[in-house]
Amino acid sequence: MRTLTVLGCDGSWPGPGGSGSGYLVEADGTALLLDAGPGTFARLQEWGDPARLAAVIVTHEHPDHWTDLESLATWAGYGPGRARCGEQGNPLRVHAPPGVQKRSYYAAASWMSWHELAPSMVLTIGALEARFVATDHGPPTLAVALAHQGATLAYSADTGTGWSVEELGPGIGTFLCEATYTEESEGNLRHLSGREAGTMARAAGVGRLIITHRWPTVSAEAVRKEAEKAFGAPVDQAHTGDVFTW
Ligand SMILES: [Zn+2]
Repeated sequence: MRTLTVLGCDGSWPGPGGSGSGYLVEADGTALLLDAGPGTFARLQEWGDPARLAAVIVTHEHPDHWTDLESLATWAGYGPGRARCGEQGNPLRVHAPPGVQKRSYYAAASWMSWHELAPSMVLTIGALEARFVATDHGPPTLAVALAHQGATLAYSADTGTGWSVEELGPGIGTFLCEATYTEESEGNLRHLSGREAGTMARAAGVGRLIITHRWPTVSAEAVRKEAEKAFGAPVDQAHTGDVFTW
């Protein structure tokens, strides 16, 4: 059983009652937190014990993708996590581009195990294999493909149109792709519209497209519809609490 649980999916800032980017990926007993945007640590605790995480992957240093790592680290260092993944347990394993550690209050904490991520890296995290490539964004940003027993889940992180999921290799079954706004905003920032996400996913031949990272002020249905039109097949818009199998 492989699942993808949406802990938060708001783009750039959390909307009312929402959370920033954060996804829990599970396969064969391995649980991985992919990004830790604001609000996601609260949702993570609704899922279960954070000490069950094998690792945290942070894709880039923009605050909407990582600032609740600070909450998780506080929990692990001083809260109930101390005995299990804090100083008295196994260190909290974090894989992130160097900018994230530099910004963290816990950059040098003894209970944190920081690992620098770079493009082209391949990691084994429990039952999952993770492959990374750089996207077209502002600070160093990494997209990731997670593979388990022949199935692959890819995540775009944040990107502009200068990157394609094709760079993560063939055979992407499920693609979680950012689609920040609708086509009227194309070209303004290094993000994708629903149309651009759908066009790229179709060209790459992915099996299934789930869009995420929508600005809270943008209509979910408008982005989904234009993504679906460009993709040529049904597209899901991620909502907090959704659980997808992959
Ligand atoms: Zn970003």
